[in-house]
Amino acid sequence: MSELNLILLGPPGAGKGTQADRLTDDFGLPYIGTGDLLRKHQEEGTELGVEAAKYMDKGDLVPDELVVRMILDEIDDRGRDGFLLDGYPRSVDQADALGDALEENGRSLTAALLLDVDDETVIQRLSGRRQCVKSGHLYHVLFDPPKHDGVCDQDGSRLIQRDDDRPETVKKRLKTYHDVTEPLIDYYEERGLLRRFDGTRDAGEVNDHIRATLAMLRLEERL
Ligand SMILES: [Zn+2]
Repeated sequence: MSELNLILLGPPGAGKGTQADRLTDDFGLPYIGTGDLLRKHQEEGTELGVEAAKYMDKGDLVPDELVVRMILDEIDDRGRDGFLLDGYPRSVDQADALGDALEENGRSLTAALLLDVDDETVIQRLSGRRQCVKSGHLYHVLFDPPKHDGVCDQDGSRLIQRDDDRPETVKKRLKTYHDVTEPLIDYYEERGLLRRFDGTRDAGEVNDHIRATLAMLRLEERL
């Protein structure tokens, strides 16, 4: 079987998490989220985790080299047939670092999957999210409202808006995305790796489209 080495791109609120869940189920690919990876290394107190903590404790960013080493370890460990990488790269420098490291290991990316969503939709999706304070149950004031305003259906606890989802914060996150991450779209397009999906569509439709694209990629590789 050919490898499917994938990265997920898209603004916050594009539905990357949902699509990642489905793709890992559909294709049996390990999901590698860099946030989770950092936490795991810290909790287990690995050499890389201890090294990363030195930066995080000072409020500094963890150097790309360290993150890439964590990713490659994980790929070695679980990603023999492919992987789905989320949260990295977030800049062109990081993309270069990842590309080089993969190449040194005799591998390369199969595709960069972009979930395309306009800013207005992102703001509507994120700023409408509500979470219950007790168990973290999620709602959306427009798309998935609770039966009673501000109260969790499942445990009756209060619903709040997470700081990350406040409109001012969402706008800041979007600005960072446009400034730093969006150049990756051209980067992967130039390398013939970009595959674009309309992330404003229903999650099931997006998933169908991605699956069809991946099936095609595999087919092309075999020919
Ligand atoms: Zn709840």
